[in-house]
Amino acid sequence: MDMRDRYGLTQVVFNMESNADLCLQARKLGREFVVKIEGAVRERSNKNLNMPTGEVEIEVSALTVLNASKTPPFTIEDDTDGGEELRMKYRYLDLRRNPVQQSLMLRHKLAIATRSYLDGQGFLEIETPYLIKSTPEGARDFVVPSRMNPGEFYALPQSPQTFKQLLMVSGYDRYFQIVRCFRDEDLRADRQPEFTQIDCEMAFVEQEDILNTFEGLTKNLFKTVLDVTLEDFPRMDYAVAMSKYGSDKPDIRFGMEINNISAHAQGKGFTVFDSAEAILAINIEGGSEMSRKKLDALTNWVKRPQIGAKGLVYVKYQEEGTLKSSVDKFYSNEDLEEWSKACGGKVGDLLLVLSGDLNKTQKQIGELRLHMANELGLRDSKVFAPLWVVDFPLMEWDEDEKRYFAMHHPFTSPKPEDLGKLMSDTGEVRANAYDLVINGVEIGGGSIRIHDRTLQSQIFDLLGFTPEEAQAQFGFLMNAFEYGAPPHGGIAFGFDRLCSLFGGSESIRDYIAFPKNNSGRDVMIDAPAQVDDAQLKELGLKLNLEK
Ligand code: ASP
Repeated sequence: MDMRDRYGLTQVVFNMESNADLCLQARKLGREFVVKIEGAVRERSNKNLNMPTGEVEIEVSALTVLNASKTPPFTIEDDTDGGEELRMKYRYLDLRRNPVQQSLMLRHKLAIATRSYLDGQGFLEIETPYLIKSTPEGARDFVVPSRMNPGEFYALPQSPQTFKQLLMVSGYDRYFQIVRCFRDEDLRADRQPEFTQIDCEMAFVEQEDILNTFEGLTKNLFKTVLDVTLEDFPRMDYAVAMSKYGSDKPDIRFGMEINNISAHAQGKGFTVFDSAEAILAINIEGGSEMSRKKLDALTNWVKRPQIGAKGLVYVKYQEEGTLKSSVDKFYSNEDLEEWSKACGGKVGDLLLVLSGDLNKTQKQIGELRLHMANELGLRDSKVFAPLWVVDFPLMEWDEDEKRYFAMHHPFTSPKPEDLGKLMSDTGEVRANAYDLVINGVEIGGGSIRIHDRTLQSQIFDLLGFTPEEAQAQFGFLMNAFEYGAPPHGGIAFGFDRLCSLFGGSESIRDYIAFPKNNSGRDVMIDAPAQVDDAQLKELGLKLNLEK
């Protein structure tokens, strides 16, 4: 039989000739039984060189069954026959599987390496509370009723943001914490209601200091955990990221940059383009052979509600002077050749064009760019392309709510050189905010903070808080700023995402021992669940679930 523990698998043998009793006993063993054996290690006659222990086996002289096992609901093997839901219900069995163990070991290594690096840089790991007060950081809070204070609620932190800033006021000039954060959001594949951040803050720093320190951490993690050496990270303005990649988290493992061809494509009588704010194109190298069927499929793909484009125009650069497009009626070969050349295209290439409102079209073609790269295999998970995206706008106008929202969070400081525009051209003010992006994934984000009460009040005001609301929610922070608050700033890394990036997997769930499913349920312990009436009474709560 094969005997397995955390450290591996070993073949153990029972011999009918030398010990028939033991052999008969062994025949009653089943999968996943917990056993203790004694025996001699010996060389195997038929070696398996693909296994670390494949050259030896143990001939058993004593066997004790420590515990029997029911037949597991799925096979505990690298490639299991168990579906996701079943594996989550029996997560304690799933965790026995080698790939899952490897993922948790990777997570452990990353956590240890993070602690050791930051400790070496003089950071202190300080815990902050989980039962706090509801604060508007962008997502919905999870709330916890307080029994001792009837009618009042704690909130679970969306991040330790205000606490780490208070620690700076308290003089702990380098803080970090590997910490759980809670956000009650609708879940997607890479989101969990509770997730982990490497949360950091530093005092007496400017943006440059933060970028350098955490570029150092990132390079160190890649080196110690993956033995990958990263070059210095390029920096890209938010505006450039949006115009060239249609995303604030560009995947720069491949080119296929977005080009604005409005100047070339407007004024020829094609009303769709003439009435569009922007006409954007990407050049697919060697794509001119794409079949009609494939192009139709792509058109349907961009028209799906998730992307929301109205249609897709293509231009095939078949030969010098011969181009074929879906808008031949309006444009000559020379026109189309000009577009293609403007996008760096050449014979054999394919141009894909979307048009409409600038912001929306940028995002749509950004998605199309990623889709094409996936199809063409340009997103190799073994290649790492990190960059800093900087100079984010401070605030974003929300058309539905008719008000500004903080793009990062309300504690982010405007760029000093843009302060003059704060009241007049609010939307144009840039923030001292930055994101670390690797392979199209936002791995970390942070900002230099406001440390001045007056400016912080002004920002709350712009975000639509009355002075009373601002005082009620953030009085503690603004009061603290009046007692000698140093300039400070920080960053937080999404730790689960970092693990999945290092492990080369799409899903952060693979790196969380006990994750929740898409409806936020833990199907193993069956949570969330109802509580009994006595518990509700004690909390002073009455349910009213009618719609
Ligand atoms: N608290 C921020 C977040 O969770 C990170 C930061 O600004 O340091 O996104």
